[in-house]
Amino acid sequence: MNTNSTTQSLDIAVLPGDGIGPEVMRVTLELLKAVHSVCGGPTLHCTTYDAGAQFFARSGVALPEATLEACDRSHAMLFGAMGWPDIRNVDGTEIIPQLELRMAFSLYAGVRPIRCFPGLPAVLADERARGIDFVLIREQTEGLFYARGRGRVETDIAGIETEVYDTMQITRAGTARVSEFSFRLAERRKARRSAAGLPSLVTCVDKANVFTSMAFFRKVFDEVAARHPGIESNNSYVDAMALTMVKKPWDLDVMVMENMFGDILSDLGAGLIGGLGMAPSGDIGDKHGLFQPVHGTAPDIAGQGKANPCAMFLSAAMMLDWLADRHNEPRLEIGARVIEKAIEIALTSGSVVPMDYGGSSGTAALTSAVMGVLPEALRRVE
Ligand code: ATP
Repeated sequence: MNTNSTTQSLDIAVLPGDGIGPEVMRVTLELLKAVHSVCGGPTLHCTTYDAGAQFFARSGVALPEATLEACDRSHAMLFGAMGWPDIRNVDGTEIIPQLELRMAFSLYAGVRPIRCFPGLPAVLADERARGIDFVLIREQTEGLFYARGRGRVETDIAGIETEVYDTMQITRAGTARVSEFSFRLAERRKARRSAAGLPSLVTCVDKANVFTSMAFFRKVFDEVAARHPGIESNNSYVDAMALTMVKKPWDLDVMVMENMFGDILSDLGAGLIGGLGMAPSGDIGDKHGLFQPVHGTAPDIAGQGKANPCAMFLSAAMMLDWLADRHNEPRLEIGARVIEKAIEIALTSGSVVPMDYGGSSGTAALTSAVMGVLPEALRRVE
C-alpha cells in the first residue's frame, strides 16, 4: 500500500457491493466531494471496482484478482455491503468477500465505535445512555472464524453425517497485536475521556472459565496490559458483557475480543444506539484499512431508497481520520469531524428522522439534510 505523505491526492478503492451497499455508497461519494470542497486537504481519487454476490452471479467470481490488486495499491478501501440471500457458493455458504479481504490484507482489528447520537430516539430509558461512547474491537483473522472452510464432518459407515467440528484458533501473535491495538486506541481516547472525568479502560472479553483457547487469549491480553500501566484493564466473560452492555454501557471505553464474540456483540452494540443505520466500522491492519458500515445488504429494504446512509457516512469519516494520521494531513481529520458534526446538526434539527428510527426520511432526504449543514458544521468544528 502507498504510504506517501504530503500527497495532493489519495487513491480510494470503492467497493459498493450489493443491496443497499451501492445506494449508501453513491451518496457517500457525493458527501466526500462536498466535504473536500469545504475543508480542503488532499483530493480523494475514488475508483469503483467489481466484487460481491451480484457480480458473482454474472461472472462466477466474487472478488476478482484485479479488484484485490487495486485494493492493495490504494491508500484505503471504502466498502458498502456484500452478499445476497439467493446467491450462494455451491456448498450453500453465502458470498462474503469481506472475509477474504480481511485475510488477504491482515485486517486484524475490527473497530466498531458505538456512540449515542443526539437527536435520535433513545433505546435505553436511563439518561446516562445519552453518554454511550465505547469502541468494540473484534479480532478478525482467527478465532472461531478460523473454522470457515475447514469444518470437519464425520460420517458413520453408512455415510450418514454424525458429527461436525469447527475449530477455534487463538495465537499469541494474533492476540498480542489486537490487544496492543486496543491499548493504543485507549491511549488516543484518554485526553477526551479524562476531560469528561472518565477513566481509560480496556476490557478483555472472553470465556476463560471454560475454554483453554480463551484462557490463553486472556493470558496474552494480560501480558500486553502490563506494558500499558497508564491505562486500566479488566476482564469480563462474554455472557456477563452482554448484560453489562445493556445495564451500564456508559461505563465501557474500549473492549477487545475474539472474532465470533465480536461479530455478535457488535450487533448488540448497534442495537443500543437504535440500530445498524448509525453503526460504522473500520477493518484495520498494519498496512491497509477498509471502512464499511456494520450493516449488511438489507435485502428487505434494498432498491426502495429507505436505507439510512449515516453508518456509511460515519465509516467514511473513520477513513478520513485514519488517512489523516497515516499521511499527516490534518485537513482530513477536520473533514471527519465535519461529517460527524453535520450528522449531529441534521438529526437534532428535527427536520429528518431516519426510517430505521421510526421516521420517514429515506436516503435522499438524510443526505441532503447532512450536505446542507456542512458549512455550519465546519464553523462549529474549527
Ligand atoms: P449480514 O448478514 O450481511 O451482516 P444482516 O443479517 O446483519 O446482514 P442487514 O442486512 O444488516 O442484516 O439488515 C438487518 C436489518 O437491519 C434489516 O431489517 C435491515 O433492513 C436493517 N438495516 C440494515 N442496515 C440499514 C440501514 N442502513 N438503514 C436502515 N435499515 C437498515
